[in-house]
Amino acid sequence: MLFPYKYVPHQMEKMQEFIDFIFYEVWCKAPASGSFSFELFNGNADLKEVMTIFNYGDTQGGDFFYGHVERIYGLFSALNSAQIAQFKHWYQANNDIEKVCANDPAAHIVHYADIRVTHHELSEQLAAFFKGLYSKDLLGLKALKDKIGDIDDHYKTFMGTNAKGKCPFCGIGDIKGIHHSKRDAYDHYLPKALYPFNSINFHNLAPACHECNSTYKLSKDPVNTVAGRRKAFYPYANPGYNIEVRLDLAKPDVDSLTPADIQLVFGPAGLNEEIETWKDVYGIDERYKAKCSSESDGKYWLAQIIDEWQEDGRSPADFLNILSRQTTRNPFADSNFLKKAFLEGCEHAGLFNEKA
Ligand SMILES: [Zn+2]
Repeated sequence: MLFPYKYVPHQMEKMQEFIDFIFYEVWCKAPASGSFSFELFNGNADLKEVMTIFNYGDTQGGDFFYGHVERIYGLFSALNSAQIAQFKHWYQANNDIEKVCANDPAAHIVHYADIRVTHHELSEQLAAFFKGLYSKDLLGLKALKDKIGDIDDHYKTFMGTNAKGKCPFCGIGDIKGIHHSKRDAYDHYLPKALYPFNSINFHNLAPACHECNSTYKLSKDPVNTVAGRRKAFYPYANPGYNIEVRLDLAKPDVDSLTPADIQLVFGPAGLNEEIETWKDVYGIDERYKAKCSSESDGKYWLAQIIDEWQEDGRSPADFLNILSRQTTRNPFADSNFLKKAFLEGCEHAGLFNEKA
């Protein structure tokens, strides 16, 4: 991704704390705790209250939550201590998103498919529970909202801090902010369709523009391919980094320019693996080349520089100097980072060699 988000603490993290409690204190202790009861939640008064309201209430979301916590408890009670230890490792790894993204060998991540091999029913129940956790039917219930707050409020707070107005995964798409009444969707960076345990972990949730989330990424796995594990950018990396973009044109004829005539080179080399993953997951090459080949973007950028050259006598070198300064200050405003790469590519291809 082009730049990381700043992680913003919020009351909604309490939902993950509830899930941590359920996992470690309720499910993992099931083999020695006897039958399922409210007593199991004595160590977390807020969660106990929520469970009580859900049990005696008649909401679909409440029944879903309570029912799955109880059913999975039953399945955990049949596990031996080695199996419980294994699940703890998996739970911890799947929630350490930064280590997973770095392909840290200590992070033993697990997919539903891995669990299914030895624990078929448990895998099914965990999948239903964790895929369903992030739903309005559940998170919208008053009993929960009273404790954890509201996802729309999280979004507003988040965008108050992350206020660029551009999607960090592509840098070219707008993302809704504090002045919109609607919001963009949170992407489950490690897809909730594949990975248990982290569907409500806000280190795994990152707002993305519609194109990134719903057209290109979908349920693509950023850290795994058929060839094996790979590194991916961590959405909340701190410190950040600067992605370099260079663009070369195969021919100096921009009127007939198509994506096939454009070559994009990204740096720095030290982030090569993360960059390759990012390009693959978000269709970056295709999207940037299409934008540079478009009448309203690349071809218009070129028309601007030539118009100012011919009509106002402002040389392309001056134009590029100013653009370079503006890009340093505001790389993502007006797609400056891509505009600069494209126009410098035009310059290298000889388009500004002599006044037309
Ligand atoms: Zn995007």
